[in-house]
Amino acid sequence: MRLANIDHRAALVIEQDGTEKFLDIAHASDGRWGPGLPEVFQNWADVTAWAAGPNVPAGQWAPVDRTRLGAPSPAPRQVFAVGLNYHAHAAESGFTAPTELPPVFTKYVSSFSGPDTEVALPPEGDVDWEIELVAVVGREARDVAEADAWSYVAGLTAGQDLSERITQLRGPAPQFGLGKSFNGFSPQGPWLVTPDEFADPGDLELGCAIDGEEVQKGRTRDLIFGIPRLIAALSENVTLYPGDVIFSGTPAGVGMGREPKRFLRSGERLDSWIEGIGELHQTFVSAPAAK
Ligand code: ZN
Repeated sequence: MRLANIDHRAALVIEQDGTEKFLDIAHASDGRWGPGLPEVFQNWADVTAWAAGPNVPAGQWAPVDRTRLGAPSPAPRQVFAVGLNYHAHAAESGFTAPTELPPVFTKYVSSFSGPDTEVALPPEGDVDWEIELVAVVGREARDVAEADAWSYVAGLTAGQDLSERITQLRGPAPQFGLGKSFNGFSPQGPWLVTPDEFADPGDLELGCAIDGEEVQKGRTRDLIFGIPRLIAALSENVTLYPGDVIFSGTPAGVGMGREPKRFLRSGERLDSWIEGIGELHQTFVSAPAAK
């Protein structure tokens, strides 16, 4: 099943004759589920059972307009982001790869957006790209075993962990949350794909390109802590709630790890993708001068 946020309403998405089409869940279920995404995650098992059943109307699917898409889980109670979770990225960042849980921080939800956006570059900012597999939690999780962890995942989506490196690394201790949470710095989408849709949800190709030049390409099988191990480790420490969002970390190829370093410039376009999920498209502009 594929779940989208269309105009802040939950929708099922299917591909029909090469076109993505959607069905509003609240309309199609006569108001039983939705209309928002948080209510769908709260009732995840029932909604997925309904979506797989015979009561979904066949004739009401309409083409998806990508400009209306928002983040698949737009109002999570918690957002987790994971650093240094691929060996090659840890190395390019100047760290030895973590053997225990990698660094965990947050991206504030005010930075969330849908998949296709224009992003304002903060003045004097070094804005970097980080394509990441994002998992959304489907039911409350506490002390979950790694072997059971996929059953706590509602689905997977693509995310960019856009990062302003000056803010991120300034001060006596790093400011990961603020440096990664400027407006528009957490584009996600285009929709959420349930784990059963993949031949192997633990091995997906992901990457991104700037103006057509590929800068990152990796596979999620190279995650040091894959999604099940992250769910197990996080849920040992905190309770995870339906709709919670986990950015799982980025593969090698970020701008900060290059020689010379390279960051996003006004006018550039960043295209990101994950196999079996879809694409994100960002264009960058200079922030308007401060008043
Ligand atoms: Zn990241």
